[in-house]
Amino acid sequence: MRKPIPYGRQSINDDDIKAVVETLKSDYLTQGPKIKEFEEKFAKYVGAKYAVAVNNATSALHLAATALGVKPGDKVIVTPMTFAASANCIRYCGGDVTFCDIDEETYLMDIKKLRDILEASPKGTYKGVVIVDFAGYPHNLEEFRSLCDEYGMWLIEDACHAPGAWFRDSHGKIQQSGNGVFADISIFSFHPVKHIATGEGGMATTNNPELYRKLCHYRTHGITKDPSLLQKNDGGWYYEMQDLGFNYRLTDFQAALGVSQLERADKGLERRQAIARKYDAAFSDIKDIKIPFRADDIYHAFHLYIIQVPDRKGLYDFLHENDIYAQVHYVPLHLMPYYRQFGNKPGDLPVVEKYYEHCLSLPMFPTLTDEEQEYVIEKVKEFFRE
Ligand SMILES: *Cc1c(COP(=O)(O)O)cnc(C)c1O
Repeated sequence: MRKPIPYGRQSINDDDIKAVVETLKSDYLTQGPKIKEFEEKFAKYVGAKYAVAVNNATSALHLAATALGVKPGDKVIVTPMTFAASANCIRYCGGDVTFCDIDEETYLMDIKKLRDILEASPKGTYKGVVIVDFAGYPHNLEEFRSLCDEYGMWLIEDACHAPGAWFRDSHGKIQQSGNGVFADISIFSFHPVKHIATGEGGMATTNNPELYRKLCHYRTHGITKDPSLLQKNDGGWYYEMQDLGFNYRLTDFQAALGVSQLERADKGLERRQAIARKYDAAFSDIKDIKIPFRADDIYHAFHLYIIQVPDRKGLYDFLHENDIYAQVHYVPLHLMPYYRQFGNKPGDLPVVEKYYEHCLSLPMFPTLTDEEQEYVIEKVKEFFRE
């Protein structure tokens, strides 16, 4: 029996283990010097001014929605093709979620359909947009920014799938996912299946100093000791809780793991690209397999390698029988029982619903061996020969 092959997994090496152990022996377990170092190095990696480390990306999304001032009844537009947290952060703040259908090639939110939604209501109806660089395909954030500006809306980029991805803007300049140039706040996850693993963990990036201050403020209970912000000052011990915040801190030993992982991030991306090219070449002559869309002017981070096939359930079951744990990303959010209570129903978003019927994510992670990938390819081909 061979070892089952998952669709994604972390890679932990001796340097990672050494970094964690060193921090465990230090004076700090929760927020200490490693958090600062991780934040600074991560901000530099994605090209943003500020980064705020938190205990997971769901918390980062909640902090982002809070910092941007989402209030009960605020209407926000979200892509349906994502993990639930991208929309839930709006609900945590009492906001209402409107889903916008995706593009049938990139599977990202379709900006033409976003414009249709906006044009159908008076200006000011919607407060903001949450987009996702789905599977690692980077959004053209410049286009979304200008549409958001036209309608006075904020923009959250959920970049959990896309650290290291980039697109070219209208001046031909490379713009990295999460660099803070176009989105107000971008979000990353360090869950084990993502590019960088800290166990649980997340990051919010921004170029806006006021949003940065708010993200830090809400991360630690809305408490401040900054003398310039205090309403009065009783002495050295004195602090004020000025807003209702949370405890969303990351531990210092997790940050040490993050710093160590970050050093290999580019290597991991190159490996993901090589795996994608090999899948592309293997499947391009099978007419029943639709391989991921490729454009020349982007760098795809390949968190996921997704194919579309006519008989998805058949292929899923066949691969699982052969110890290949392919996955489906994702069940569209508007069809979740929770989101149906707001009036969402099948037929609302035809492109994402059709995509969901056919999509399958094949194993894609940097430590996938050539031998394992060849086995996956062989089994997929075998299914189509039968
Ligand atoms: C993983 C993921 C999240 C949530 O990340 P956690 O760190 O597990 O909270 C949010 N959005 C997207 C697109 C994700 O893939």
